[in-house]
Amino acid sequence: MAKILVTGGAGYIGSHVVKLLGENGYEVLTYDNLSTGHKWAVLYGDLIKADLADKETLRKVFKEFKPDAVMHFAASIVVPESVKNPLKYYRNNVVNTINLLEAMEEFGVKNFIFSSSAAVYGIPEKIPISENAPLNPINPYGETKATVERILRDLANSRDNFRYVSLRYFNVAGADPEGKIGFAYPEATHLIIRALKVAKGEIEKLEIYGTDYPTPDGTCIRDYIHVMDIAEAHLIALEYLLDGGESDVFNCGYGHGFSVKEVVETVKKVTGRKFKVIEAERRPGDPPFLVADNSKIKEKLQWKPKYDDLEFIIKTAWDWENKLKKKLLD
Ligand code: UDP
Repeated sequence: MAKILVTGGAGYIGSHVVKLLGENGYEVLTYDNLSTGHKWAVLYGDLIKADLADKETLRKVFKEFKPDAVMHFAASIVVPESVKNPLKYYRNNVVNTINLLEAMEEFGVKNFIFSSSAAVYGIPEKIPISENAPLNPINPYGETKATVERILRDLANSRDNFRYVSLRYFNVAGADPEGKIGFAYPEATHLIIRALKVAKGEIEKLEIYGTDYPTPDGTCIRDYIHVMDIAEAHLIALEYLLDGGESDVFNCGYGHGFSVKEVVETVKKVTGRKFKVIEAERRPGDPPFLVADNSKIKEKLQWKPKYDDLEFIIKTAWDWENKLKKKLLD
């Protein structure tokens, strides 16, 4: 079975992919500096605790593990932080990716799967957004993802022995339905996680950032996708590359969205808790609508999402949220 090196495999999305790879018999090695990830989240294979800036360790890992493919999740992901500290984002997300690509080149590893983001589109002109929409990121985080996509395109054009798939994630949420892993970052900025922490009483109130958007109820609409469906997309992208597929870029979303108010109502319903919600100012840089056109990944990779159900997404996230504290103390 193929050997897969997973950077950021101890983080939120990476750990779900490691689980799926392990369940499907792949040999996995996680490379993670544990800055936001957790050792317990790596359910299959070994964990190398190291930074992608550490080229010596990286080279050693390639030399010894000899991966057939690399999946690259390790990145800094907090948009407001990227606005305050762009150099950290360019270093972690762009420079470290170049280190990884150089190691792949040196050790002749051909296949690369990249965690990209709908943030590369910025404020889209057309909804749903298709992959050929222009890349116009509106924050440094999105810029770093778009920059890496351009590097990948140029690298694939420059030689025959490098192919990649870039997956542009929409709003990833939910947790492993078996409850072994889930979102466990120190900061909770995302809507569903924040709403659950408010429902639990860990945060006092939920703020709705903007109620005057040009949407039916005035709040922003997003395409929320279950983390296990995202993980599945990585698995089929991997099979596609290992079977000799050409380099390509795919949106990962369900193709329909929910407003902030709809999400809040669903959180109340699923948790059975009432909590304080207040209307607040718009958050800078939020596009009113972000919904994927997912026809390409469905047609070309035959991706079949299993969990396109907001209540299920929130239920798995809620079950996980209720286990998280204990897990962090383990
Ligand atoms: N949002 C909100 N209150 C919060 C967190 C998020 O109203 O406490 C809104 C945010 O402005 C956006 C949507 O929820 O319109 C989704 O935000 P999130 O940070 O989850 O994901 P993003 O779309 O920014 O990647």
